[in-house]
Amino acid sequence: MTVALRHAAATDIGLARRTNEDAFLAEPPLFAVADGMGGHSAGDVASATAVEVLAREVKDAGEALAAAVKAANEAVHRQASSDPGLSGMGTTMTAMLAGPTSAQIVHVGDSRAYLLREGRLERLTRDHTVADRLAREGKIPAEDADRHPQRSILERALGVSPEVNVDVEVIDIRPDDRLLLCTDGLTSMLTDEEIREILEAEDVPERASKRLVEEAVRAGGNDNVTAVVVDYPAGEAPGIEGAGTGMAPAPPRPAGSDFWGRSAPAPAPPILSAPPRTGRRWLVMLAIVLVVLGAGAFAARWALSNSWYVGENDGMVTVFRGVPGSFAGIRFGTVERVTDIRTDSLPAVYQRRLEEGMTASDRDQAEGIVRDIRELRVAPSPFPSPSPGTSPSPAPVPGLSP
Ligand code: MN
Repeated sequence: MTVALRHAAATDIGLARRTNEDAFLAEPPLFAVADGMGGHSAGDVASATAVEVLAREVKDAGEALAAAVKAANEAVHRQASSDPGLSGMGTTMTAMLAGPTSAQIVHVGDSRAYLLREGRLERLTRDHTVADRLAREGKIPAEDADRHPQRSILERALGVSPEVNVDVEVIDIRPDDRLLLCTDGLTSMLTDEEIREILEAEDVPERASKRLVEEAVRAGGNDNVTAVVVDYPAGEAPGIEGAGTGMAPAPPRPAGSDFWGRSAPAPAPPILSAPPRTGRRWLVMLAIVLVVLGAGAFAARWALSNSWYVGENDGMVTVFRGVPGSFAGIRFGTVERVTDIRTDSLPAVYQRRLEEGMTASDRDQAEGIVRDIRELRVAPSPFPSPSPGTSPSPAPVPGLSP
């Protein structure tokens, strides 16, 4: 049976990126967002491929949602392994199959699904990031997880290895429920409360998705932003096959368990880093510009002594004091410690992140990033050179909502 869903999607490149590596799918009853990562155009390829394979497997092959996500993982991984230009690419995936009285949600990475019900916003996914794990283990306060330097270092992503662990959950649906799928470009710029207010204020899905994206860009737009909003019809209870009529209230979640109701798996080493959110860096650059404008040496001293980053120096992973990049030809970092980790022993996506500089708020956090990087080292393995016929071309993203 079908139910008349209203839905809309919006995406924006943001203010800091040269390409939009997010992809989405809005083909009822299947919805998804994917946030691709990797050098050059690889992030585009990863997210577009994942979404395309997901749609094909679910809609054409009738595959179960979790199996379709695993197939998408294999497809992205195969492509990344066969083309050195795409080596190290990966993508998040948060997808929903909307049924009349329930919705199935599958999730890998740090994109998110939310449920708005009777004015309350509930997060349905947990981020597969280092920071989120540290918060769950009680090592950092939960409220710090969204600002932690490792908040964007993923512990799981599609395409990175031949196998992937997929979170799967089924939620009961009530009339008037609104669901949101979004990439971290939204949740890194807006708080859950700000997201809730917009979803509450905007009745029409088109306006809700558009305004979420607009507000994230207005708040800084540090990343690509994508939002998919799905509304169940109000008031009328969709029929439940063989189960009488009306909507049964969703059973209460057992106290003490998280949404997924199961214990967390053993932490995997971080495998991919999403691009940095650069708010702090811009603040520091602003401080330095103030010096140039004659505001005094104090701001520059503050900036250089209180900022750290991990970057690349002569092919080695290096801890710097200062901020990555340069302004008017002046570099803002000084070498504090050169590690013994060669950057060419790291996945391509990490090499790119090191070129940009991975920022930290103090030395301990910088050294923590080095420890995470150390676990990523891979033996240099020669890639098979691609034969002319097998070079993959970026697949079109299917299902862009009209
Ligand atoms: Mn992102």
